[in-house]
Amino acid sequence: MSTYTQEQVNNMVAGTLDWDTTFRMLSMPKDSERFSQYLTALQASVSFPDKIVLPLSPHMYIVQSAKSKKWLTICDCGHEFCGYKENWKLFANIYVRDNAEAMAEVYPKFMHPDTNWQVYREYYCPSCGVLHDVEAPTPWYPVIHDFEPDIETFYKEWVCLPLPEKAE
Ligand SMILES: [Zn+2]
Repeated sequence: MSTYTQEQVNNMVAGTLDWDTTFRMLSMPKDSERFSQYLTALQASVSFPDKIVLPLSPHMYIVQSAKSKKWLTICDCGHEFCGYKENWKLFANIYVRDNAEAMAEVYPKFMHPDTNWQVYREYYCPSCGVLHDVEAPTPWYPVIHDFEPDIETFYKEWVCLPLPEKAE
């Protein structure tokens, strides 16, 4: 197992780490400090005052609200979607590609799916407009709740860190 400096992890998050080191980091077992170094690098890259509990995607985090200590799902622009156990997609701006014209914006002619069978649902941040996720379900399918992470077990048993305070 190798260990890495905070500077190397910062560069990994920024996308400026050299490829050889990046490849070694990705392919080798993770050192025990990695998650807290990763959080430190992410926290330094955002402008909101809330403490990052768990990164969810490139622009989305579960955070401990600086004001209320509640755990919330937020965008990296600071937009608050909802409590961390709720499905954030239900609080997003949603664009549904459900006809040939809309599909032609992302596919060459005759290459897109038949929208009677499959549509695209695009989920955008209502404040900054970043695209957070795309689903490709059948038209009648309910909005998918991707996952509900077991953060307590992750902190206590996987990364062995104290669980951040959580107001209900
Ligand atoms: Zn946003």
